[in-house]
Amino acid sequence: MQRITILGSTGSIGASTLDVVARHPDRYSIHALTADTSVDVLCRQCEQFKPQIAVVGSAQAAQNLSQQLRQKGLKTQVEFGPGALVAVSSDPDCDVVMAAIVGAAGLVPTMAAARAGKKVLLANKEALVMAGKLFMDAVQANGATLLPIDSEHNAIFQCLPKTYLRGQPGQGVAKILLTASGGPFLNRPVETLDVVTPAEAVAHPKWVMGRKISVDSATMMNKGLEVIEAHWLFGASADQIEVVIHPQSVIHSMVSYIDGSVLAQLGNPDMRTPIAHALAYPERIASGVAPLDLTSIGHLEFKKPNFSRFPCLKLAFDALRAGGSAPAILNAANEVAVQGFLDGHTGFRMIDQLIARVMDALPHIHVDSIESLLEQDFEARRIATGYMHS
Ligand code: NAD
Ligand code: MG
Repeated sequence: MQRITILGSTGSIGASTLDVVARHPDRYSIHALTADTSVDVLCRQCEQFKPQIAVVGSAQAAQNLSQQLRQKGLKTQVEFGPGALVAVSSDPDCDVVMAAIVGAAGLVPTMAAARAGKKVLLANKEALVMAGKLFMDAVQANGATLLPIDSEHNAIFQCLPKTYLRGQPGQGVAKILLTASGGPFLNRPVETLDVVTPAEAVAHPKWVMGRKISVDSATMMNKGLEVIEAHWLFGASADQIEVVIHPQSVIHSMVSYIDGSVLAQLGNPDMRTPIAHALAYPERIASGVAPLDLTSIGHLEFKKPNFSRFPCLKLAFDALRAGGSAPAILNAANEVAVQGFLDGHTGFRMIDQLIARVMDALPHIHVDSIESLLEQDFEARRIATGYMHS
């Protein structure tokens, strides 16, 4: 029996993970569930999955959750705050940590899981984008197992030779072909992009996801973050990673080999496939995802991304090539800009401009600790917030 902590259980990935777990009560039990503010959803999850511990973001949310749990006669222990997230990620009673908090808030608890040598299922790409080498070193030094949940990286993992974790993609690999749907604005006239609304930006044509990653998909910063994620996970250089737009989202990514072979992983766009794959790895379990019906899909398209339509993708390649704290600065500025867009403080086209300004204003430095990384993250947020309100 594998005991699982789900960081961010009330989100889109959290809910999909619980859906897969519920199909296999003989294999998995829930050690801890965590949420920031969604107390009602978390309470219902506690009722169904009976975790030992539930963690929320504030004392007030904790009080609210405790009350609701008591009324239902449930014994789940309630904690709150960042220290409690670290505790449930490194608890000896837990074997597997699903890292599904959105954004930089997930970094410290995900790092704690790596340091505690857990099996880490990584959805929280921002953690790896920020901490790159520090995170991979912690995985290596503490014997943790790192399995990618991001559909593209899970696909690449399935297509790579098994030697990849040595920091090189593996013998014979020429390129990683990272597929991208292109998001909701792939064909919209570029000159109309400055008037898109948050509702239009989060309406993804193929995937149902949280709001932040949905906006990232519309700007293609999501793909940019995934390029950096692929660099760290698979040891591929920026030149070895090619982004291919594939609007049907049936091929989740590919690996191209020096002999001319290209291996791809296909499936319906449903995160329960990579979640089930990583949970059971190296075995296979049912995920609830419908079988792929290729003849009803009919045709698959591919095209090159256009940096002038999607400047965020270029900014991410630039940050990867710059190295050091540049990806963390990119990520922090993006989080501020996306939140500002969702809150109506800034237009869609301002997202890339704001990130570019912050990257110019804050020179990247070498980072050798999580603390110095968090300082860079803080500083980038401060500058981005200042620009947004100026
Ligand atoms: P979401 O917004 O639906 O859920 C986020 C979860 O994190 C919620 O449970 C929320 O309570 C929690 N949370 C938010 N802020 C927090 C904070 N400050 N402290 C503690 N907890 C906090 O997001 P999502 O779509 O499930 O995405 C989660 C992560 O997975 C992101 O990093 C995203 O990039 C990645 N991811 C998501 C998908 C997808 O299909 N949704 C696919 C690939 C990767
Ligand atoms: Mg993805």
